[in-house]
Amino acid sequence: MTGPAKIAKPSGMKGEIKMVTSASNPAIKLVRALEDKKHRRETGLFLAEGLRTALAAAEQGRLPKTLIYSDELAEHGKLKPFLARCLNAGVECIMAGRQAMEKISRRDNPQGVIGVYEARLTALDDIPAQTGDCVIGLQMVRDPGNLGTILRTADAVGAAGIVLIDDCCDPFSIEAVRASMGSIFAVRLGKSGFAEFEALCRKRNGQMVGTSLRASQDYRKPDYTKAPTFLLMGNEQAGLPEAYENACDARVRIPMRGTADSLNLAVATAILLYEINRKSL
Ligand code: SAM
Repeated sequence: MTGPAKIAKPSGMKGEIKMVTSASNPAIKLVRALEDKKHRRETGLFLAEGLRTALAAAEQGRLPKTLIYSDELAEHGKLKPFLARCLNAGVECIMAGRQAMEKISRRDNPQGVIGVYEARLTALDDIPAQTGDCVIGLQMVRDPGNLGTILRTADAVGAAGIVLIDDCCDPFSIEAVRASMGSIFAVRLGKSGFAEFEALCRKRNGQMVGTSLRASQDYRKPDYTKAPTFLLMGNEQAGLPEAYENACDARVRIPMRGTADSLNLAVATAILLYEINRKSL
């Protein structure tokens, strides 16, 4: 059977839960297709795995367009009320049998719940920045694990937003979404060239702080409380382009001992974010 069968729903719910057993069902095929960046770009959709993430998204007012869950979780205490909320909101809800679930469950991280969400980016003008706030500019971040981890840390410190500058990896890839642990739904995320990022900084009367191994100033020196900070982080391999560093109001370095020539990008970002927020957290 390839078509979905409708199954009984708890009373008081508006929509129908569909039962899918075949891996060739269109919803299952859509989930498979969304693992591919090209398809994510074309549809404006992305995947988020796990009930915990779905609940974190719902807390931000974000429900999936389609929710697929394993029939083995049908009686899960937290899933049931969430399912009711989704059905009442008109979300397509699909209970999948083992064969269909195996097709969409990733072997490295099998999950019983997968949501299909709209990928949303924030326009730069909608990123606020008051004194003491921080907007993070990530220039050519290429590693989705780093990007997801930075989203999570930015959420933890209450950063005003993240701007992806130049050619970055896809924030809506499975790896980035997974590493963000739900924070992809909580942090304002924009995309721009460097000129627009710099213009936003000037418009918000911010100070642009670049991080560089070539800098001489210690990262604990600048006063981060007098203006919004626009923190600029460089690419994992090449670091920041010299022209971008030169445009910064301050260039800072995290001191290091030992033989490592640099810190991991996500680690360096976390160190800076906690210093910028030291007096307010
Ligand atoms: N080979 C690159 C270079 O020369 O810049 C290393 C890039 S590093 C892995 C990636 C980014 O993390 C840097 O562009 C910078 O933003 C940040 N970073 C890493 N270690 C740092 C440190 N000790 N001080 C300041 N920023 C650092």
